[in-house]
Amino acid sequence: MVRENEVAVEPPEATDAGLVFIGRIRTPWTSRMETPRQGRHDGPTCTLEVSEPWTAALRGIERFARLEVLYWLDRSRRDLVLQSPASNGEVHGTFSLRSPVRPNPIGTSIVVLERVEGSRVHVRGLDCLDGTPLLDIKPDRTLFKPIAPPQKGDFETAKS
Ligand code: SAM
Repeated sequence: MVRENEVAVEPPEATDAGLVFIGRIRTPWTSRMETPRQGRHDGPTCTLEVSEPWTAALRGIERFARLEVLYWLDRSRRDLVLQSPASNGEVHGTFSLRSPVRPNPIGTSIVVLERVEGSRVHVRGLDCLDGTPLLDIKPDRTLFKPIAPPQKGDFETAKS
């Protein structure tokens, strides 16, 4: 459905850029109408189910109170450049929104880590449908200090 003043384009054929799904996200939501617009840290616990061969990559994540989760909003259309989230005829450019409707439907959330049980990571703060493909998990950047030694670019400023 295209709402009043929304604009769809003919997108190039999607290649999905060779992404691999590393698992699935289990949430209480099966309808987009019930899913939060943005996750909240006091929201329900959701589970990142990480598949093989990626489970070894979870080592050490329990050191971080918050994680950044990236996921593929697989049930979105991908062709709107102007959208009317309020359905009132007022439109906004897709790149000025966090709408799931975008050329590459990547969703991101900062979540609170509750616990890790083997290949299952329990978190709060998600806003996706049950079964949403999982793309990546990273430590929240505000908690992470690079482990690799610094390099030249780390010291460059606008004036240098
Ligand atoms: N927090 C992410 C972000 O800002 O990148 C996603 C925000 S997006 C506004 C969340 C909405 O996407 C939900 O309210 C739901 O309507 C929709 N959604 C959730 N899971 C989806 C999926 N698997 N496919 C398509 N739409 C989805």
